[in-house]
Amino acid sequence: MNTTGPSIFTKIIDREIPADIVFENERLIAIRDINPQAPLHLLVVPKTPAFANVTELAIGDPGLLAEVVATAHNLATLHASGEYRLVFNSGESAGQTVFHVHAHVLAGNLQDHTLA
Ligand code: C5P
Repeated sequence: MNTTGPSIFTKIIDREIPADIVFENERLIAIRDINPQAPLHLLVVPKTPAFANVTELAIGDPGLLAEVVATAHNLATLHASGEYRLVFNSGESAGQTVFHVHAHVLAGNLQDHTLA
C-alpha cells in the first residue's frame, strides 16, 4: 500500500500536473523528461501504480514490460535514429526518485553521457 499518495506520474496521467506527452494508450503514457540527460530523453510509464520498479513489473506483468520496451523502440524510431539506451533505476541508491515504474529512453549522441 502506498501511503505517500499518488505519484508524480499518476498526477500527470490524471492531468493534475502538466507534462509534454508524446504517446498515450490505455496502459502507458510517454512524456519528455523535464530534466533531459540526452538529446532525446523520454519516460515510458505504465499507467498502473501497482509496480514500484522494473523487477516488480517483470514479475507481476511481463507483457506490460514487453509493451514498455516496444514503445521505447517505436518512440526512439519516431523521434531519433531508432538506436537508444533504456534505463530503469531501481532503488534509491541506484538513483530512483519516483517509485512508480518508468523506463528512461535516451537517444542521440550518448558516447559522452553517463547517467547519474
Ligand atoms: O529514475 P528516476 O526515478 O530518478 O526518474 C524520475 C524522472 O522523472 C527524472 O528523470 C525527472 O527528471 C523526471 N520528472 C519529470 N517530470 C516531473 C518530475 C520528474 O520528467 N514532473
